[in-house]
Amino acid sequence: MARKTLKFVNVGKRMPEKRSAEMRRRDFDEIYARFDPDKASEQAGRCSQCGVPFCQVHCPVHNNIPDWLMLTAEGRLEEAYEVSQATNNFPEICGRICPQDRLCEGNCVIEQAGHGTVTIGAVESYITETAWEQGWVKPAKPRRELEAEVGIIGAGPAGLAAAEQLRRKGYQVHVYDRYDRIGGLMIYGIPNFKLEKYVVERRARLLYDAGVHFHLNFEVGRDATLEELREKHDAVLIATGVYKARDVKVPGVGLRNVFPALDYLVTSNRKGLGDDVPRFEDGTLNAEGKHVAVIGGGDTAMDCVRTAVRQGAKSVKCLYRRNRQNMPGSQREVANAEEEGVEFVWLSAPQAFLGDEAVSAVRAARVHLGVPDATGRQTPQIVKGSDYEIEADMVIKALGFDPEDLPTLFDCPALETTRWGTVKMDFRTMMTSLDGVFAAGDIARGASLVVWAIRDGRDAAEQIDGYIKAKAQGAGAGEAP
Ligand code: SF4
Repeated sequence: MARKTLKFVNVGKRMPEKRSAEMRRRDFDEIYARFDPDKASEQAGRCSQCGVPFCQVHCPVHNNIPDWLMLTAEGRLEEAYEVSQATNNFPEICGRICPQDRLCEGNCVIEQAGHGTVTIGAVESYITETAWEQGWVKPAKPRRELEAEVGIIGAGPAGLAAAEQLRRKGYQVHVYDRYDRIGGLMIYGIPNFKLEKYVVERRARLLYDAGVHFHLNFEVGRDATLEELREKHDAVLIATGVYKARDVKVPGVGLRNVFPALDYLVTSNRKGLGDDVPRFEDGTLNAEGKHVAVIGGGDTAMDCVRTAVRQGAKSVKCLYRRNRQNMPGSQREVANAEEEGVEFVWLSAPQAFLGDEAVSAVRAARVHLGVPDATGRQTPQIVKGSDYEIEADMVIKALGFDPEDLPTLFDCPALETTRWGTVKMDFRTMMTSLDGVFAAGDIARGASLVVWAIRDGRDAAEQIDGYIKAKAQGAGAGEAP
């Protein structure tokens, strides 16, 4: 059979069809179509099957990318799916929302050689969507049931990945979440145009079908203390994510119509899910007809600016204190936002929000990037006397997230935290200061990508399995558990 890979010299890089910016601005549908089978095979066939695949090295879950590309190029899609799902619980979600330009695709050897990366994310989505259509995606049914129970706090990507892995091993898994839906930020934070909600909902159904028990609208600290969950379960995993918005300390931050990013995104997502959302209906958290200024340069800021465009804002500006090359958000997302009409105001820092009761403008100053700090990033310095005003009757603060005060929230002062407020844990065992209590995802590593949360959830599942088995063995040998 003729070789189906190594085609990058003659076949150019193609992304799936992208809807026009004009159409995208009018709805919240995903912006990329899917590859058809021929295109997927052709694009996967561009891979050079590297001996040292840097795509895989730079993937947080170490997806076996060259293998599933080769299998796709050869039309062996069921096998491609098996390989893909072996390292990742939600490949179709990562295919859609991972910043591939900073991970696998950014490090693809043929990208570095100037041929244009293999479109790994799009092929990953294609494989898994095909698997769903063909009925290859099955609930994680264990070979045998175990009596041991694990309680997981948080139904976001880390908690759900751990839940699936533990259920597969036979544990009785209980997931607690304070929200009314499963998915955490994947359902309430990330907008539909990047990740349509049915994608998350069908994963949730799969976990129900696998026998995972969900306890929604359940707040640890209100409905049970952490101590009570420890007594109830053989191990507990804390995977709450980080939700406390970082604030900007400038005059006028308390004015009406200055909002934290998450309030804005959750409202928009709830509206899309068909919920009754009074703060959207009365116009408070609806950008329609407004001049919107978003402060920040990460992926959350990108989600906000692009949501505001779709809600019919009069203008949308994104103020970021560094330049394009030094922003934390995905360059692909910036390009998409620009196409949709967002204006980026680089090297700008807010100095004050102006207005009487409600905000009417942002006073910003120009920024000069100075010498690099200990992390190697250039330090932003305000240029004196460079202040200027930007009209804005809605301001969204997207400056990142910090952990909530979990020891207080969970009524458990013995749970130790770091100086950043993340839960302190042993990085080898992932166990916190409390015996049998583990931590995974953003609450342990700080705000990060969904794919890192999946990795942490999978790792935590392994550690919990080892812990429970060791305890059972110890008890069986007559040792104190
Ligand atoms: Fe293929 Fe690029 Fe990965 Fe190399 S780095 S194996 S060319 S996808």
